[in-house]
Amino acid sequence: MRLVLGADVGGTHLRLGLFDADSWQLLWQGKRGWRGADDSPESLAAALLATLREAEAAIGHALTELPLGMGLAAQLSPDGRTVVNGPNLGWRDVAFADRMEAALGRPAGSIAVCNDLSAIVMGELAAGAAVGVRSLVALYAGTGVGGAAVVEGRLVRGTGGTAGEVGHMKLPGGQAPCGCGEVGCVESVAGGASLGRRLHAMHFATDLAGELPSDPARLERAALAGDAEAEGIVAEVVDALAFAASGLCTFLNPEVLLVGGGLLERAPVLASRFEARTLSLTLAVARARLEIRRGSLGDEAGLLGAAHQALQRLV
Ligand SMILES: [Zn+2]
Repeated sequence: MRLVLGADVGGTHLRLGLFDADSWQLLWQGKRGWRGADDSPESLAAALLATLREAEAAIGHALTELPLGMGLAAQLSPDGRTVVNGPNLGWRDVAFADRMEAALGRPAGSIAVCNDLSAIVMGELAAGAAVGVRSLVALYAGTGVGGAAVVEGRLVRGTGGTAGEVGHMKLPGGQAPCGCGEVGCVESVAGGASLGRRLHAMHFATDLAGELPSDPARLERAALAGDAEAEGIVAEVVDALAFAASGLCTFLNPEVLLVGGGLLERAPVLASRFEARTLSLTLAVARARLEIRRGSLGDEAGLLGAAHQALQRLV
């Protein structure tokens, strides 16, 4: 059996998965907070090592030599070794791969790093909702808004390695500040982090006790109950996501628009309005053969895709 490791690094936690690379069966997975005394790659490496030890205890043999792929919520250099900008990780121009390899005691060049959205899409292509798909646009709305494009079966990487940053496409007249440092981005309207801050300050007429103020499900319920302010925000979010997605679908004429992410999962009515609006804004000839699909691997997609990248690039 060929074994491979995939890790998904978020703003607070890391998840590690061990896969059988022939069947893509997930054999073990673990999760751990990584932000300790500092937020350095070395803190992340320490948490990763501790998680690996847990996996080794559960599986019964050493795993430290296995190919390792890591997905990060960050813009990476074209070779994937440097984090150019990772606002949710707190890193800018960090020599991530070098420092991880040194801290983990692995040889240079032994870790494959990719963007977290690329990892999700690679996972869905390898063993999920997009197996066999040759052209695809992905849009995921969660804490941030991310995307990816696959053309002729290959993930589009871009000259600088940052293709797919759909969350940072600009909206006409947009003025809201974005986590990336610019203003008017899709993510500044439709990203969970920005939306959450906005919702926190609001008191909808339909509030129920015990709900998280920043929960998109609360926004959706208030809108459905007729709250005009909530309805206005839902319409803004739907428009921002649909303008971006339909523009990409009109331009690339893909087989599949793959959608997902926590915001769309928590607010299913908003999600179906987004899908309908996207179709209505997409050029008719591009829409005719377009299929909208949801990812089928859930949280596992990013782990599997990172592991898949490791096999492709390292083995
Ligand atoms: Zn931005």
